[in-house]
Amino acid sequence: MTDAAAYDVLIVGSGHGGAQAAITLRQIGFTGSVAILGDEAEPPYERPPLSKDYLAGEKPFMRILIRQRHFWAEREITLLPGRRVVSVDAAAHRITTGDGETIGYGRLIWAAGGAARRLACAGHDAAGAHSVRTRADVDRVIAELPDVARVVVVGGGYIGLEAAAVLTKLGKQVTVVEALDRVLARVAGEPLSRFFEAEHRAHGVDVRLGAAVEEILVEKARAAGVRLADGAVLPAEMVIVGIGILPEVAPLIDAGAVGGNGVEVDAFCRTSLPDIFAIGDCAAHPNPFAAGRIVRLESVQNAVDQAGVAARAIADTAPQPYAAVPWFWSNQYDLKLQTVGLSAGHDACVLRGDPATRSFSLIYLREGAVIALDCVNATRDYVQGRALVEQRAMIDAAQLADTTTPLKTLLSA
Ligand SMILES: Cc1cc2nc3c(=O)[nH]c(=O)nc-3n(C[C@H](O)[C@H](O)[C@H](O)COP(=O)(O)OP(=O)(O)OC[C@H]3O[C@@H](n4cnc5c(N)ncnc54)[C@H](O)[C@@H]3O)c2cc1C
Repeated sequence: MTDAAAYDVLIVGSGHGGAQAAITLRQIGFTGSVAILGDEAEPPYERPPLSKDYLAGEKPFMRILIRQRHFWAEREITLLPGRRVVSVDAAAHRITTGDGETIGYGRLIWAAGGAARRLACAGHDAAGAHSVRTRADVDRVIAELPDVARVVVVGGGYIGLEAAAVLTKLGKQVTVVEALDRVLARVAGEPLSRFFEAEHRAHGVDVRLGAAVEEILVEKARAAGVRLADGAVLPAEMVIVGIGILPEVAPLIDAGAVGGNGVEVDAFCRTSLPDIFAIGDCAAHPNPFAAGRIVRLESVQNAVDQAGVAARAIADTAPQPYAAVPWFWSNQYDLKLQTVGLSAGHDACVLRGDPATRSFSLIYLREGAVIALDCVNATRDYVQGRALVEQRAMIDAAQLADTTTPLKTLLSA
């Protein structure tokens, strides 16, 4: 079989990880051929604004491009948009796209992220029921908004809550439906969940907790609301579903890669298949800030830093294992949440500051060591707390809670 083309490094996925892998390869002097293949039509763009200022209409698409269009050609990075990889032949070093095109590679970097999880209930695929994962998703939402007064957001995670904040600001009547007993339950401690729940309620959002969606109601072939398991009916002209992602790894798993919920990689982002690396949302990796557990992180930081690790493992004489401190942010209303570290598995949580002032931090500890901070409108704590997480500092809870003492002064020299 003859391949339509072949590249020394072929990157699958044109999101944050894929783009950064190509950028880093050139930055470190890699002169071989590099291509980024992705199933979206656009050149690489930032995903976080999709549920923030892009959805709000405050930032045009041009301003969320990861690099302007000419950058890629200038760096001799070939963009192959609008193509979806359906299979990988690891022995032959070749991928096949949905159109039957085959492309050879020397090394493959799999940066395919995840697809938005969908509800399985009746009506889940009705017009007017949307995910918020791609530019195309959000453009559809924006196009429909003029005819929408009421929105049901299914899922009280970051994306659902960010969308709820923007839509409220745009004058829509928003209901958030969350299956668990608090918002942000999977990612944050209870005080943070309760704070954001109260903020959304104060902005007029109807927050329904412990509420399971039974059906998306459909009228005239369009979503007309949601029926909950307890029988409650929430009429709406639009439904937004933000219930997480499913990692896009099927072609790799079919090719024999070890994995399941993501594809497993080592500290250098190497999968179990020869010359195939995986990075970003789809990569299940050993993370030093999760006590070495295998985790999958969904953040720009993780995608970008793993891209650097994979690029260096390919092209640098002294590759470094992945050891970056995790960080994340979320904007809702005038609140800027900044997170550093991973709070999962904490056994104590210290409140620093007063949530009533809308500026405070939560500091998470495990066995006495600081493992993470969630900082709301508290950038100084976020910046200074990073070193506490890096050093797994053992600090007394009363000292951490004392806002008159800057966090940086608590560090051992
Ligand atoms: C609305 C929204 C808001 C977010 N907000 C934040 C935030 O505030 N802070 C933060 O840190 N993170 C945020 N995230 C998460 C962050 O965007 C992701 O963690 C990051 O984009 C992951 O990068 P990635 O390269 O792994 O995957 P992605 O950026 O998802 O890119 C993967 C690309 O691969 C493509 N693809 C998938 N399968 C195939 C295939 N088989 N063949 C070809 N192409 C394929 C996809 O279409 C996509 O273009 C947000 C995400 C969303 C959706």
